[in-house]
Amino acid sequence: MVSIIELTKRQEVILEIVKGEGPITGEQIAEKLNLTRATLRPDLAILTMAGYLDARPRVGYFYSGKSAPQLLGNLARKKVVKEYKALPVVIKESTSVYEAVCTLFLEDVGTLYVVNDKGYLAGVVSRKDLLRAMLGKQKIEEIPVNIIMTRMPNIVTCFADDSIYDVALKLINYQIDSIPVVKEEIEGGKPVFEVIGRVTKTTVTKAYVELASEQSV
Ligand code: ADP
Repeated sequence: MVSIIELTKRQEVILEIVKGEGPITGEQIAEKLNLTRATLRPDLAILTMAGYLDARPRVGYFYSGKSAPQLLGNLARKKVVKEYKALPVVIKESTSVYEAVCTLFLEDVGTLYVVNDKGYLAGVVSRKDLLRAMLGKQKIEEIPVNIIMTRMPNIVTCFADDSIYDVALKLINYQIDSIPVVKEEIEGGKPVFEVIGRVTKTTVTKAYVELASEQSV
C-alpha cells in the first residue's frame, strides 16, 4: 500500500488494532499497548486527521476503510483553482506576432490569452503557434495573432472553484500547458468569458508539492 504520510511503527500498530477491534476507545488501545492514553493522543490525532480513522464520541475509534490513494484523491480535490491561479497575460486580437513574441519573453510565460474588443476571451497563442508563424513567408510585424491563435469555442477553460485535480486532468487529456481561468457572463443572450487567471503545469506542480509536504508532517 502506498502511504501518503509516513506512518510510524506505533501508528501502524494502532491502525491494525482499530481495524481488527474497532470501535475501540483510546483508553482500550492504550491498555493493549501498555501505554498511557496521553502518550497515544498525538498518534490518534494524526491518524484521524489523515482520514485513516474516524472517531465518535462515546463510541471510540473505528477504521474509515479509506485507502491511502483514496485519501490522497480527496485531499487533491480540496485544492481549488482560486487559491493557486496566477495572473493571466492578455493581448488583443490585433497584436502582431512580433509583439506577441516580445510579450512572451517580457512576461516570462509560455502562453498568451487573446481577448476581443470587449475584453472577452477570443483565443490562445502558445509558443508553438508563434514559432509556426515565424516559419512562414509573411512578416511577423504584419500578422495579427487572431490569424494564428486557437480560437473560441475550442478553448479549454476552467472556473475559480474547480479543483486543481480536475484542471490537471484537462491539461493531460488535451495535451496543453495552460488553461485560462474564466468568469462566465451573459451578453446579448450568449455566454462570454472574462479572463481572471491562469493555471499551468507549474501551478499543478506547486499544488502537488504543497500536498506532499503537508502530508509528511
Ligand atoms: P506549446 O505550443 O508551447 O507546446 P501547448 O502545448 O499549450 O504549448 O499548445 C499546443 C496547442 O494547443 C497550440 O496550438 C495552442 O494554441 C493550443 N492550446 C493551448 N492552450 C489551450 C487551451 N487552454 N485550450 C485550447 N487550446 C489550447
